[in-house]
Amino acid sequence: MRDFYLYFKLYPRLLNTSVIKNGLSYIWARKTTFPLTINFLITSKCNFKCKMCSFYGSGQPETPDLSTPEIIKFIKTISSYKPIIHIGGGEPFMRKDIYQIITEIKKLGMPLLITTNGYLLDTAKIKKLDVDYIIFSLYGPPQVHNEITGITDAYEIALKKIKALPKERVIVSTTVMLENVDYLEEFIKTILEHGIRKIKVENLNYITPQEYENHPSEINGYILKPTTLITPSFSHSQVQKLWKRIGKLKTRYRGKFFLKPDLDKKGFFNWYLGRETNISCNFIRHSIFIDSDGAIIPCQFLKDCKLGNITRDDVKYVWRSQNFEKFRELIDRLNLPVCRRCCKS
Ligand code: SF4
Ligand code: SF4
Repeated sequence: MRDFYLYFKLYPRLLNTSVIKNGLSYIWARKTTFPLTINFLITSKCNFKCKMCSFYGSGQPETPDLSTPEIIKFIKTISSYKPIIHIGGGEPFMRKDIYQIITEIKKLGMPLLITTNGYLLDTAKIKKLDVDYIIFSLYGPPQVHNEITGITDAYEIALKKIKALPKERVIVSTTVMLENVDYLEEFIKTILEHGIRKIKVENLNYITPQEYENHPSEINGYILKPTTLITPSFSHSQVQKLWKRIGKLKTRYRGKFFLKPDLDKKGFFNWYLGRETNISCNFIRHSIFIDSDGAIIPCQFLKDCKLGNITRDDVKYVWRSQNFEKFRELIDRLNLPVCRRCCKS
């Protein structure tokens, strides 16, 4: 319930009858007839090499991308359910056909979010396409962002694009990490001074090296190898400082600053100290991921857990299948390390 509240406060333009119906069905029965959000990792390619990225940070190989006709066909088959489409990657604007894909999604009346580093985005083209929200990933003030992404002018280019787009369609998203933690106030203040209306701050998704070592790789045929950042936890004094910082920012920028997940003090300390958390996964009961090769996966942190493929399977069937239901029950039971610090939970 709390995740929905946050979601729609951040993205009010996404509400349509189908989304409301599906959302209510989830709140009442903890299930939906069709995914509320389809998170489409439309390419595995990226022009950046961010330090904390689970694609490049863990040195994962690029998977082959779907062709334009395969994507258009898929979009048409799901359009009658009017799910929210969230396009991500890799970097979506690495695809030459991205504007064609966006045009098709909007023509079929589906709400659309795109997450991007902004570098290759063509603002003139995007402005014509009625994308509901463009989410720019920025990780700190210029020197910090450029250092984290490994691109010397990444911040400057993204900011130029942000300024050229309608303010009500832009969200800035950042992730808390050791490299930017001391610059959060400066970064958020500057971003909001540029007229950006909402900033989403995600707690770092990570798994400790020890958790990774002990993580089950397969249970009952489900591949559970974590595809998230592997890194040591924060020290107690770092967490204490961060908790105070976040508290001040939440108060100062109420209505503009959104922490995800919005943890209480105990949950926050457990999260960053690498302890067990009592988080349960709601995400896999209302939303789904499609990987760049068409694989239907529960989320981007369990990318090897393939439950079907859109080139041969009907998403609606996979979504309601016994196979997926058993997987959800397994996740409820296990409290897997990969789920302990998951921003989707
Ligand atoms: S821009 Fe995104 S996908 Fe690309 S390296 Fe950075 S975090 Fe990873
Ligand atoms: S809590 Fe676990 S299963 Fe759920 S989205 Fe996160 S990593 Fe995936």
